[in-house]
Amino acid sequence: MSDNKTDVIIIGAGLAGLTAAKVLKAAGKSVKILEASDQVGGRVRTDEVDGFLLDRGFQVLLTAYPETKRFLDYDALDLRKFDPGALILNENGSTRIGDPLRQPGTLISTLRSHAGTLSDKMRMLGLKIKLAGKGIDEIFSEEQTTTLAYLENTGFSARMMNQFFKPFMSGIFLEDKLSTSSRMFEFVFKMFSEGDAAVPAKGMGMIPLQLAHDLSVQELIFNEKVIEIDESKVKALSGSAYQADTVLIATDQLNLPKPFQQLVKSYHSVTNMYFTAPEKPFARPLIALNTLPGKLVNNIAVMNQISPAYSKNGDSLISLSLIGDYSNYNSSELQTKAVREMQTWFPEAIDWKHLKTYHIPYALPNDDQVTNEPNPQIKKLYPNCFVCGDYLMNGSINAAMKSGRLAAEAIISTTF
Ligand SMILES: Cc1cc2nc3c(=O)[nH]c(=O)nc-3n(C[C@H](O)[C@H](O)[C@H](O)COP(=O)(O)OP(=O)(O)OC[C@H]3O[C@@H](n4cnc5c(N)ncnc54)[C@H](O)[C@@H]3O)c2cc1C
Repeated sequence: MSDNKTDVIIIGAGLAGLTAAKVLKAAGKSVKILEASDQVGGRVRTDEVDGFLLDRGFQVLLTAYPETKRFLDYDALDLRKFDPGALILNENGSTRIGDPLRQPGTLISTLRSHAGTLSDKMRMLGLKIKLAGKGIDEIFSEEQTTTLAYLENTGFSARMMNQFFKPFMSGIFLEDKLSTSSRMFEFVFKMFSEGDAAVPAKGMGMIPLQLAHDLSVQELIFNEKVIEIDESKVKALSGSAYQADTVLIATDQLNLPKPFQQLVKSYHSVTNMYFTAPEKPFARPLIALNTLPGKLVNNIAVMNQISPAYSKNGDSLISLSLIGDYSNYNSSELQTKAVREMQTWFPEAIDWKHLKTYHIPYALPNDDQVTNEPNPQIKKLYPNCFVCGDYLMNGSINAAMKSGRLAAEAIISTTF
């Protein structure tokens, strides 16, 4: 048994656990984080491979998120922004859909784009205005339907759905039926409208590293997977045992320690393939959307176009996102199929060099029903055992950090 006296043991060093640690330490509590893997970040990590920075799954920080504004130093992260809107890859080639309110220069291309009718573009503007006047709490108190039903009821044409909303929202929700809650759609659309989609200059992994900056080696124990919790005692796979006044479980939903394991029936998976090439496939810092029916690749980004640090030698780092779990597929066949698809718009893709593929079976929780506050009964499992994590609210960086903050505040209010 570890003899160091710790106020709170936190299990998991993802964004939820790290945010909780920050709040607890600021309130004078001592913490020890036990993390199963070899680094902080959980689902937000960046690897360096052959001079390229590879985020483990394409993801972006929406700078309008209230919790990231609260806890992160954006200047120190040196955020690099995507242009608003998207590059639509379709049967006619490519067309740009922008956000003329935020980037007036895209007005003409947006109006001319074949992605939707003029009424679609007016509806899009109406949606932006409606959501600008709606608070986040109000969004999360609305009746929930699917995003698909919500968009269809808003009156968007089939073309606008197929050319923009379906691929764009699939790339965010990591599911292609748009069964994700309409609350989540409104929240995410509002965040996209009111801020930027960005990545730290040196990769998404800089976010957890910034949160963990003030933690000492005594406070952060890696390669320590917790298997069981018994009141305030914690047992690790290594055989070590720890004790604290309070335990905070900050794992993902699939890896809750005993006796809290859950049967998780549904979650969202994604596959992220990285290729390198001497040339950039397209010129602007945009997310490109594949709108062809029966596609394999959903969205494409050239990461060093967003931040040059993603590629040391200046070659293009091309990130392809495939919605779903392809871990059982033959990897060279998968690469060939993805490249063949990309050749529709980028003939030079035949020469792209495959760098690495990440299979991420558990990327997001099922978000068919979402909240912006964890259920208080779930947040506190025992008098001295609390829980946090994105799945208690919704699958997002914002929710992970908010759940960590709320759990820490609950611990502080019950134990001081
Ligand atoms: C590919 C991908 C794309 C995404 N895109 C976006 C996006 O664009 N925008 C957005 O807002 N969100 C996005 N997300 C979601 C966001 O990354 C997550 O919601 C958030 O990181 C979850 O944080 P968490 O702390 O709740 O969980 P996790 O990050 O899963 O952290 C849990 C931690 O607990 C550790 N752990 C698990 N079990 C144990 C154990 N038994 N003992 C000790 N440690 C344990 C894990 O190793 C991990 O470090 C994306 C996620 C993925 C994977």
